[in-house]
Amino acid sequence: MRAFNVAKFGGTSVANFEAMSRCSAIIENNPQTKLVVSSACSGVTNLLVELANGVQDAERRLAVVKELADIHNAIIDQLAEPVKVEKEVHAILDSVASAAEAASFQSSKKLTDHLVACGELMSTHILAQLMRERGVDAVRFDIREVLRTDDNYGKAEAQVEEVKRLAQEKLIPLCENQVVVTQGFIGSDEQGNTTTLGRGGSDYSAALIAEAVQASGLEIWTDVPGIYTTDPRIAPKASPIPEITFSEASEMANFGAKILHPSTLVPAIRHGIPVFVGSSKEPEKGGTWIRQQVEESPQFRALALRCNQTMVTLRSDKMFHAYGFLAKVFEVLAKYKISVDLITTSEISVSLTLDKTDTSGGAPELHQAAREELEQLCTVEVEHNLCLVALIGNQMETKGYAKQVFSTLGDFNLRMICYGASDHNLCFLVDAPVAKNVIQTLHQELFEG
Ligand code: ADP
Ligand code: ASP
Ligand code: MG
Repeated sequence: MRAFNVAKFGGTSVANFEAMSRCSAIIENNPQTKLVVSSACSGVTNLLVELANGVQDAERRLAVVKELADIHNAIIDQLAEPVKVEKEVHAILDSVASAAEAASFQSSKKLTDHLVACGELMSTHILAQLMRERGVDAVRFDIREVLRTDDNYGKAEAQVEEVKRLAQEKLIPLCENQVVVTQGFIGSDEQGNTTTLGRGGSDYSAALIAEAVQASGLEIWTDVPGIYTTDPRIAPKASPIPEITFSEASEMANFGAKILHPSTLVPAIRHGIPVFVGSSKEPEKGGTWIRQQVEESPQFRALALRCNQTMVTLRSDKMFHAYGFLAKVFEVLAKYKISVDLITTSEISVSLTLDKTDTSGGAPELHQAAREELEQLCTVEVEHNLCLVALIGNQMETKGYAKQVFSTLGDFNLRMICYGASDHNLCFLVDAPVAKNVIQTLHQELFEG
């Protein structure tokens, strides 16, 4: 394993000139940091998604492009030598304007990826220049030359072996002498079309790149000093976790803790790369180390929340004492490439939630053709506006565990409880309006005692 470190900076970490300067200071302080992965400046991807979804009103389109220009110009204006970067960023903004017009006639997943990738393409031009002006020998690299993916636009999957080969050829030699600044979130397919890894995908990019260059460490710099017992925005008394295992942190990410993209730890686990999560605003506060082994495995580790859940309930008398019903259901789901997240069954019904973290946003939908085919087997009910609450911990099968959790939540209506399949989590759905209250109540009982 090489003695070099990959550092990823999220949107708020590169939101403005001061924030980018703090990132540069963090990089300057660690000579082992040879590779920097950056998100788009805060708010930029949301604006690009709006354009990609098709804005009919030309005035609104112009206003969004102007907002994008303002965010970037405000940083460029503070550079000592802005001319070259300004030209590069403005060329990207021009292509955003024309792609946005095209999307207003007809949007597509491919066009969406082309558009939303522009955020990271712009921020990295600026960050690399800012670092050079502070004396770092920084070079910007277009990661689409290395991060090869399939063509599943909006949620592309990396072709790991190809990424490793391309990194060996194009990226590692650059890192020998310079600090490379590159984009998170984006990649390209075999045809050279731009793809994205899904919202929040820069964490995953950074891990994939760290694996490909055989880095010795991965740092995720964000706006909180580490992983907390739950989202501190929801429960202000949440406390930072100094160290956590890969499997516990993976469960948190999978169940919606926004601090990490769900796939982030997969490459880190494959390659045994320790991951550090900290705040670029307050690096002195330390953060969380995610490792294979840690000293403590508490019963209650953390709470995660994932909103925008779609629950599908399928009911059929034919299921009663019959076999093959679920197989038929899953055949239909597989045919329409519908990924199932949670599942619970009773004698005559099965409830499941649909998975989705792609770039276009919004709740996952059961598309009409799939629904019609399922309706030939059973009745189909679709419910939106639900949130998934997950309690992550250790030895959760222990006596009294469920009682403590459920008695705390006696006043709430819990749906689709999943408990027992894993030793490390207990999860259930609640209606969106009460979700935060559920997290606060549970956090108070289990973590604030
Ligand atoms: P970035 O833009 O740096 O990727 P994100 O907004 O994606 O940052 O992730 C950081 C946010 O994740 C925090 O501001 C916090 O609100 C949220 N979050 C959710 N769960 C947790 C948790 N368990 N610990 C810390 N932060 C969490
Ligand atoms: N810019 C992308 C997003 O906002 C990716 C990321 O920041 O991780 O989703
Ligand atoms: Mg993020």
